[in-house]
Amino acid sequence: MTAQRSQPSTFDPQPSGYRSRLAPSPTGLLHLGHARTFWTAQKRARATGGVLVLRNEDIDAMRFKLEFVPAMIEDLRWFGFAWQEGPDCGGPLGPYNQSGRFQFYRAALDKLRTDGFIYPCTCSRKDIQSAARAPHAADDGEPVYPGTCRAKLEIRGQKSDVRVSVSDLRLPTSDLRFNWRFRVPDGETISFEDGHYGPQQFVAGKDFGDFVVWRHDDVPAYQLAVMVDDAAMRITEVVRGADLLKSTARQILLYRALGLQPPAFYHCPLLNDENGTRLAKRHDALSLRKLRENGVSPESLRHQWM
Ligand code: GLU
Repeated sequence: MTAQRSQPSTFDPQPSGYRSRLAPSPTGLLHLGHARTFWTAQKRARATGGVLVLRNEDIDAMRFKLEFVPAMIEDLRWFGFAWQEGPDCGGPLGPYNQSGRFQFYRAALDKLRTDGFIYPCTCSRKDIQSAARAPHAADDGEPVYPGTCRAKLEIRGQKSDVRVSVSDLRLPTSDLRFNWRFRVPDGETISFEDGHYGPQQFVAGKDFGDFVVWRHDDVPAYQLAVMVDDAAMRITEVVRGADLLKSTARQILLYRALGLQPPAFYHCPLLNDENGTRLAKRHDALSLRKLRENGVSPESLRHQWM
């Protein structure tokens, strides 16, 4: 990754007005599906004379690969993206690499813990899969958490509004691998107006369950990192793929717990391949890199989205 340049004096230290972001994870080459969603983000920012931020979501050291970061920047520029703040050009609300923002995530975690919104959970993925309430399995790949560790606390007399710490749990040392989980308000309908899809409603505890905010390997989970960054970078509209609609409901709960105002949301339809399968990083032929190598021009790709 290119070192951050010192901040040019033209940056407004207190940015206001429309701000959106491109938030790719460098876990593979960007493909046409990313480009289409990002194009919408850029179009919306340009239409309002707003700012587009590039945020490199390199938080998960297990999944991202360093070589994909310069590739990501190069491919975005080739396609015709231009951002005003980002890891390569700096800005007033950096750093713009998630790997450099741990202090923000930790501060949010501490606040959630102090205010009693989260609890430590020792369940493994397998425990959850075998215990998940099948009829309510969430459709975004995340089973509804069956509440095993939440129930343990409640049996021990802990109420949802009390502060919970790891020592409260008196875990055997072998159990010290735990995730911090956000306790969702069961039965509450989380509603928001999506800029593209219109009114959205998800019921906490049914459509999605208690979700992980901090992983056992000491890494903030996607939900927390993205929400903390969108708030800290003063994003006014989050433009992203429709696969994250339900995550928006989770993130709205985090905004509320942290006493912050959520931004507006605009979810874009996902791009499918010729078999109707959602495009993923494994669709090598439709990576921006391959298209470019094959002599396809960005203009011809963008033409259909104008
Ligand atoms: N880094 C996430 C991804 O690539 C971004 C999700 C978001 O825009 O919130 O899926």
